[in-house]
Amino acid sequence: MNYIGRFAPSPTGPLHEGSLLTALASYLDAKTHQGRWLVRIEDLDQPRCNQAHEKTILDTLEAYGLYWDNAVIRQTDRIDRYTDLYQSLIARKQAYRCSCSRTDLKGRNALNHYDRHCLLKPSTQEPTAVRLNVERCQAFNDRLKGYQAPPSEGVSDFILYRRDGIVAYQLAVVLDDYEQGVTDIVRGSDLLDETHKQRALQLTLDYPLLQYAHLPLVLASDGQKLSKQTFATPLPIEPSDILAQLKKAMVRLGQIDKECDTPSDVEGFIAFSIDIWDIHKVPKVIKNSC
Ligand SMILES: [Zn+2]
Repeated sequence: MNYIGRFAPSPTGPLHEGSLLTALASYLDAKTHQGRWLVRIEDLDQPRCNQAHEKTILDTLEAYGLYWDNAVIRQTDRIDRYTDLYQSLIARKQAYRCSCSRTDLKGRNALNHYDRHCLLKPSTQEPTAVRLNVERCQAFNDRLKGYQAPPSEGVSDFILYRRDGIVAYQLAVVLDDYEQGVTDIVRGSDLLDETHKQRALQLTLDYPLLQYAHLPLVLASDGQKLSKQTFATPLPIEPSDILAQLKKAMVRLGQIDKECDTPSDVEGFIAFSIDIWDIHKVPKVIKNSC
C-alpha cells in the first residue's frame, strides 16, 4: 500500500492546539504506514488569508518536528485547474449553472437541499454559480466514526463555483487530493458532513475513493464545545513549550497517559510517537481537561 496523507491548513491565523491534533494525527498515521505526508495551503478565501500566517504555520510545523514531503502547494496557484474542471463538468452535463439567489432559495425552502430549479429550467441570468448534478452517493466506513450512511434525502446538488467568482472548497479539495495522489485523510469531525459531498464528486469524476478518519472534537471538561477563544491561542514555539504541547496532544489522542516518560527532544519525541501510534486508541470524545 502506498499511503499518502495530507494536512491542509487555511492561512487565516496561526496554528492552535486544535490544529496541532489534526496535524500530528495525520502525520503519525502517514508515517506509521511508511507513507508520505503533504502540506497544502487552502487559501481560496482570500480576504481572510495572508502570507504572514502561511509562513507562521509552516515555521510552526517545522518547530514541532512535522516535516512534510514534496513541495507545499497553494490553492490560489491552481485556479486554472479548478476552472478547467468545472467547465468540463458543465460540458459533460455533470454540472450546471444556477442563478438562484439566497432569497430565491429561501422562498422555495431550498436553502439546505437544492430543488434543482436551474437544472430543470436552465438559467441565462448572470451571475451564475455552478452546481454538481449529484447522481450517486454511497455509504462509507470512517476509520474512527464507523459506518456513515448518506443523508436520507441524498446529497444536495452543491456549489462547485460561487456566484462571486470564488471556487468552492469541495471542488478544490477533491481535485487537489486526486492530483496529489492522496489516499488517506485524517482531519477534524467538523468536516464529516462535507465528506458525502466530496465523495459524490469523486464518484462523478471516477476518481479513486479515499479512506477517512475524522478525529473527535475537543470538548471543555464540562462536555461543552470549546469556545473559539480558548482554542485560538497560537501554539508556542519555545522549545520547552513545544514538548509540553506535543505531549498534551498525544495524551488527548489517547496514545499515552500524563505520567508517561517521553523523550526530551522534539525529534526523539516524534520518533517515539511514530513507534507507538495506534489510531484505534483515539477516544470517542476528547476532553480539554487533559
Ligand atoms: Zn438555481
